[in-house]
Amino acid sequence: MKRFLTIATLLLAVWIRSDARTPIGDATPASTQSQFPQVVRIRLWYLHPPHELKLRAEAGRANAQSCRTCKETPLTTLTVRASGSSLQSDAARAANSDLRITGTFQMSAADSPPIHADFPIEVRADQNHLLITAYMPMEEYIAGVLAGETGNFKSEEALKAMSVAARTYAEHFGSRHALDGFEFCDTTHCQDLRLAGIDTRLRRIAESTAGEVLWYDGEPAATYYFANCGGTTEDGHYILGNDEAPAPYLKQHSDRYCIRNGGSQWSSEVSTRDLQAALAADGINIPGKIRSVAVLNRTASGRVEFLRITGNGSVTVSGLLFRSAIGRHIGWEKLKSNWYDVSDHGDRVVFHGRGSGHGVGLCQVGAEIMGEEGHSYREILAFYYPGTHLGVAAQGIQWQQLANDDIELLTPRPDRDRSLLPIATRYLHESEESTGLIYRGKPRLKVYATITEFRDSTGEPGWVAASTRGRTIQLQPPDVLRNAGTLDSTIHHELLHMLIESYARPGTPQWFREGLVLYLSTPQAAGMKTANTDDLSTLEKSLRSPQSEQELRRAYAQAEAKVAMLAQQRGKEVLIDWIQKGLPPELSARTNVRPAEGQ
Ligand SMILES: [Zn+2]
Ligand SMILES: [Zn+2]
Repeated sequence: MKRFLTIATLLLAVWIRSDARTPIGDATPASTQSQFPQVVRIRLWYLHPPHELKLRAEAGRANAQSCRTCKETPLTTLTVRASGSSLQSDAARAANSDLRITGTFQMSAADSPPIHADFPIEVRADQNHLLITAYMPMEEYIAGVLAGETGNFKSEEALKAMSVAARTYAEHFGSRHALDGFEFCDTTHCQDLRLAGIDTRLRRIAESTAGEVLWYDGEPAATYYFANCGGTTEDGHYILGNDEAPAPYLKQHSDRYCIRNGGSQWSSEVSTRDLQAALAADGINIPGKIRSVAVLNRTASGRVEFLRITGNGSVTVSGLLFRSAIGRHIGWEKLKSNWYDVSDHGDRVVFHGRGSGHGVGLCQVGAEIMGEEGHSYREILAFYYPGTHLGVAAQGIQWQQLANDDIELLTPRPDRDRSLLPIATRYLHESEESTGLIYRGKPRLKVYATITEFRDSTGEPGWVAASTRGRTIQLQPPDVLRNAGTLDSTIHHELLHMLIESYARPGTPQWFREGLVLYLSTPQAAGMKTANTDDLSTLEKSLRSPQSEQELRRAYAQAEAKVAMLAQQRGKEVLIDWIQKGLPPELSARTNVRPAEGQ
């Protein structure tokens, strides 16, 4: 299994060998926080576009505009209908192709509750239906998603966690409807939006987390969520398929919270005839009449991965396709989740299951119980998306790629950062030479344009120069590091880290990994200024959870001194061997640490 470790190179650590003494945060003026796009375009009534829409001004403050360049006219009440691809209204004599409503108003379409709007909408007609696009402030959209997706949540913290998950989900997947001229539809295809359900409480909760997004590896995370896991979440791999690398924050884990609620068991049955028709409608044809349905194998969480369906011959069907066929053609309440036993009863198939939804990511019942038990929304998010971190940042940094045979460089400003490519290439070769190890993948260097973006994307404080995870190094703006005199040494340090980490045996203590990297980057200078320490468990604790910058700085120096001493005694090659095979007992026993996170 691939290891995901986060290593932060501190500028402090680099200062030990550098003349630069200016803390990075002091050298740079505080930049203003950038915001998410203020307005997202939402297609309302996406699945069932109405034929007619009734509009009524509220507080007498609405205007209608029948084309982009037309004059705005005050609106009191207006009924607009689709006629082919043109609009007819009781106000305008001529048919229009376009109508824009601004101000504060109420809109209602047949068969749905009236919606209060204080955001603009645009109305067009297509095949006798109205296409209605709302230009909504992001946080109002999130409040509407909370109304649609959270049912009757009571806990404020659980709702806050959901508002972050919903916002991050929107940012991660971006627009699935860009070609149609809007960002999100109002169905579960994007996220279920219920504007009629927005109240002041949901609005306040969305605002209280405004702009906050969960980040992983410099990108908004894929924050899947679902109703109830029934006691164990599912590994993201099973619903993401091969399109996306399995995200480590979507791994399977047990959920001690939702099971306190009990009651997640269900049973249901379908007739073999309905089942046969549902499968056939999705292109799964069972030869002859269905005689038996059996679980072929299960995922690690216990959910059905494949079934064998037998008629006059057997067909293997994935659990996901099986559930979606039954859901779409018979009813989603029949198979609430993929966690069930199945038994044949003549012309019926009976299911006994638990949980509800796909099981990947945040369990809403568990989140609600965590909230009721006094956990904060940060704790809820950390429990269901471990390894991500919360931050506010500009949406969609436009990464551009520069690459050579050895390194991939991602930057929003290629002209500025082009010169980093040869520097990184040089240190890559130097690192391979000094360790005798070879990079196992092409290192990727992500260079941020501002400290704010770096901090919010990585979760590292602004005084951290770079952060490495897997094969990705995330780097502060080069100018900032150049001014501190640490650009070259930071790149060298991170590249060495990546190489060492990709070979390090699980559980290798951090003092050894960190110390070895520091030692290898400047073997001559190492260990001259700091006394060697034998208290390795205190050192390890200082590196993992420092209480102050001073403590961390001292720990780095001690780690370096310790490794330098070991290198003098045993030789560098032995130390590199230890990275791969483990430390000798006299060094590892005293450290007494849990395996590093993410293994
Ligand atoms: Zn959609
Ligand atoms: Zn759960």
